[in-house]
Amino acid sequence: MMERGKQKFQYLPKAHNNLTEEEAAALMPKETLEVKGELPCPCCGYITIPKGGEDTAYICPVCFWEMDAFLQSEDEPSDQNHGLTLNEARENYRAYGATLERLKQYCRPAKEHEIPHK
Ligand SMILES: [Zn+2]
Repeated sequence: MMERGKQKFQYLPKAHNNLTEEEAAALMPKETLEVKGELPCPCCGYITIPKGGEDTAYICPVCFWEMDAFLQSEDEPSDQNHGLTLNEARENYRAYGATLERLKQYCRPAKEHEIPHK
């Protein structure tokens, strides 16, 4: 669990960095049980992140970006996100509608209340 001197999520028994995509998808909140988002996703910008979710391994249901509380910058590779940086993930989301093209199948469109108001 030690990487670059950072200890990740040791207080969360189920959180680890080696989820297969299927396992990660299985951990995704079911549509009806989904927590209402209060904060914008750092990747797609929709209001999908529940309060406190940014500090856990919460996965955005719209773009599949997994929150990485340890990211220091938008150009730092995220272990939780296949080594993608936030900037790369944003580019992918614009191009494919997901942080990686093959993750698109797990994503859903943003809901009306998740669209940030300018
Ligand atoms: Zn997102």
